[in-house]
Order: sequence, then structure tokens, then C-alpha cells
Amino acid sequence: MKLALASSNPGKLEELRGLLADTGIELVAQSDLGVADADETGTTFVENALIKARHASLQTGLPALADDSGICVDALNGAPGLYSARYAGEHGNADRNIDKLLDALKDVAGEQRGAHFYCVLVLLRHAHDPQPLIVEGEWRGRILHERRGTGGHGYDPVFFDTQRGQTAAEMPLAEKNRISHRGKALAGLKQRLLDLP
Ligand code: IMP
Repeated sequence: MKLALASSNPGKLEELRGLLADTGIELVAQSDLGVADADETGTTFVENALIKARHASLQTGLPALADDSGICVDALNGAPGLYSARYAGEHGNADRNIDKLLDALKDVAGEQRGAHFYCVLVLLRHAHDPQPLIVEGEWRGRILHERRGTGGHGYDPVFFDTQRGQTAAEMPLAEKNRISHRGKALAGLKQRLLDLP
């Protein structure tokens, strides 16, 4: 089966290709099929993933897979949530996003600084599939007052896994991939694909 990936991010393509290597599924990036990114106009993660998957499937005529992810902070009612990548503005970067988050939480005490990463994956068998396959993953932690660690990306330096006593930026990548929101969602996706009739 050929599956269009609703992303132009080469890192995501490689990660998913590795995961699907033994499933007989051939993953093709929509950008390699001449399809531009869809506008993410939804107000929830799952809406955005559905919009992206439907767009990719409509444009390519193939089944399509999309993901959406972000960080949700308890004390901010789940913000920045699906706006995580553009929290500090459309042209914001990871450093500015973290600065804005630390500023928003500057008066919030340690035990109130709970947060989680969230990832949803949506697979549409065709553009009008009434029953999308949806899997989710979450990773609970806490937002530190300052950065720790040099690995990872995005909010990793301030996201502290209280069970392991490390930030996501201090963890070996293989360990992060095993326990993260994305790792859990990907494991769920693989299981669901293997269970498909
Ligand atoms: P997207 O999944 O490419 O839409 O990314 C959403 C945004 O959420 C990223 O740009 C990051 O800011 C944030 N994010 C999602 N997953 C992670 C993670 O594992 N570590 C750090 N930041 C993340």
C-alpha cells in the first residue's frame, strides 16, 4: 500500500518510514508529489490533523497520514497547545517560544507548572473516509524555570520528566522516542495498522 504523508518535514518522513519498514506500507511525502501544505485552520489538534490528511488524500488520490502535536500547560488552560510552533508569532522560533512560555509562567510555583506534550496521528483510507483511524499519545511533565540540556528541539529544554529527573533535552534520543507523546502515538498506529483486515 502507498500512503501519502501530509508533511514536508524530512525528519518526520524518515522516522515514520523506519517505523513502517516491516509493514509493506510505502510512505511518500506529499511534497514529493507536488502537494503544498494545507492551512491549519482547526481549533483542536485532531481537526488540524484531519484537515491535513484530507487535503493530502484529495490532492494525491492516495490514503494519507497526518500528525499534529504540541505542548499543553495546565496553568495556561492548555496553551500554547496547537499554536505551540507559532506561540511567539508566525516567525517565532523555539528560543522565542520558550522565552514567552517562561514569562507567562513567571509567577507560577513549581507544583502548579504541570504540562504535557500531545501528539495525534490520523490516517484516512481515502479523502471521504467516514471512519478515520486516530491514535494519540501524551507525555506528562513539568515546565522548569530555566533551560536544561542541549539535545532535542522545540520546548525540550524546559520540559522536565519528573519520573526520570531529566528534561527532554537531557535524554538520549532513543529514550525520548520510546516514552514521548510521538513514540506512544506511533506505537499505537503500528498496532492499529497490523490489526487492519
Ligand atoms: P508539529 O507537530 O510539527 O506541528 O509541531 C508542533 C510544535 O509543538 C513544534 O514546533 C514544537 O514547538 C512543539 N513540539 C511538539 N513535539 C515536541 C517535542 O517532542 N519536543 C519539543 N517540542 C515539541
